[in-house]
Amino acid sequence: MQDKFHEECAVMGVYGHPEAANMVYLGLYALQHRGQESSGIVSSDGKGLISHRQMGLVADVFKEDVIKRLEGPHAIGHNRYSTTGQSHLKNAQPFVVEYSQGPIAISHNGNLVNGTLLRDELEQAGSIFQSTSDTEVIIHLIATSRETTLMGRIIEALARARGAYSLLFLTLDRMIAARDPFGFRPLVLGKFKDAKNHGAHVVASETCALDLIEADYVRDVEPGEIITFGADGMESLKPFPPAPHAKCIFEYIYFARPDSNLFGHNVYQVRKALGRQLARESGVEADLVTPVPDSGVPAAIGYAEESRIPLEFGLIRNHYVGRTFIEPSQSIRHFGVKIKLNAQKEVLNGKRVIVVDDSIVRGTTSRKIIRMLRDAGAKEVHMRISSPATISPCYYGIDTPTRSELIASSNSVEEIRRFIDADTLAYLSREGMYTYFDGQKQGFCDACFSGNYPVHFEDEGHTRQLHLFDALERS
Ligand code: 5GP
Ligand code: SF4
Ligand code: MG
Repeated sequence: MQDKFHEECAVMGVYGHPEAANMVYLGLYALQHRGQESSGIVSSDGKGLISHRQMGLVADVFKEDVIKRLEGPHAIGHNRYSTTGQSHLKNAQPFVVEYSQGPIAISHNGNLVNGTLLRDELEQAGSIFQSTSDTEVIIHLIATSRETTLMGRIIEALARARGAYSLLFLTLDRMIAARDPFGFRPLVLGKFKDAKNHGAHVVASETCALDLIEADYVRDVEPGEIITFGADGMESLKPFPPAPHAKCIFEYIYFARPDSNLFGHNVYQVRKALGRQLARESGVEADLVTPVPDSGVPAAIGYAEESRIPLEFGLIRNHYVGRTFIEPSQSIRHFGVKIKLNAQKEVLNGKRVIVVDDSIVRGTTSRKIIRMLRDAGAKEVHMRISSPATISPCYYGIDTPTRSELIASSNSVEEIRRFIDADTLAYLSREGMYTYFDGQKQGFCDACFSGNYPVHFEDEGHTRQLHLFDALERS
């Protein structure tokens, strides 16, 4: 049985560059925010695939000797993150398998909604799985396909995979990028700038990875598109019937890096606009606006600009917080949050404060933050959230907790306000979330805010799968 359903991840690949693995390593470094649990790179030197995967952050996983060993002009990599289920090295990507035509590696960002069904089917037919990840399903579908060409096998496999995937494959002489027809997760195509490496291509989850390695953004890999990079250049295919696009709106709100251009818009500008709209919708008299860093910063800037209330950093973040720390046996109040954030008395004392954050998930962090603001002397605390209430879990690759753990799934705004102990609480409206896009909701997924899941429930497989998710999550 799978022990892991939701995976926030980064993918990165370079084709035709003398230092491919080094470039992928730098890209993964820029994409660290998308996954901190494990990291891996697989390179091809034309004779074989060379692989290194390890638990930990990119900087710890790859040392100079490892990068040197990852020889060859082509490489793909992956950062994985998970907060639920077990974390195991066996789930670290890229996965590599041998099939009748040689070795193939895969990196996946997203989540298949029919992963368990396909896995059961494959296991009954004799496939032996090494991991508990749904990504391995794709590679077994490719390996067991009766199609003769690799592209035929990939198309056949992806035609059966439902849900969210932004994928990279690597064989001895080819790299293949694919994005699901809904386009849930981002995937961008770039090209190296310098003349020497002209023709070398890069594919990455976000544009911030291209900036670091000085590659130009060319375009997004389109929903439903499969791009092959080979000795004779680049080839694009769109073998699947088109689906209504469902780009993840939450990437804009929280997940992507603000300096990335995502689905055609700069994330920082979108976040600022969400903050401005929030101020228009739920202004309140106050002395200062303060963000919950880092995720709340751009929205707070927008809120302050629109409301003409000064922006102050009333909360300062420690950027070097590791995964674990030794707690003192004498309890310190709100220890976990205090390790990461400190409230400044000098800024907050006696003030009416608007505190801006991007979202509330369980409400427990927000409650501690508000306690800290009050302890530092804040006279009033008005919480403003730059997204609508998170009411439903994500089945497409963002690690949200179970429905029952989402405070807004079963509590009114007033109940949440009381729980977090704010003087007032307001969320952005669903309409307001789309003002930056001229009110155009089409093309986006906002299921975690609306409950409208874009992958159709009529499909028997999906219905069973989604129910199974809910049941397992609650257990
Ligand atoms: P809460 O008050 O719900 O305990 O925590 C809210 C905080 O969680 C916000 O600052 C928000 O930025 C952060 N957050 C929202 N979504 C996610 C997520 O998917 N993963 C992580 N690690 N944090 C999140
Ligand atoms: Fe993104 Fe939410 Fe849709 Fe998941 S449910 S893909 S987090 S918008
Ligand atoms: Mg945050």
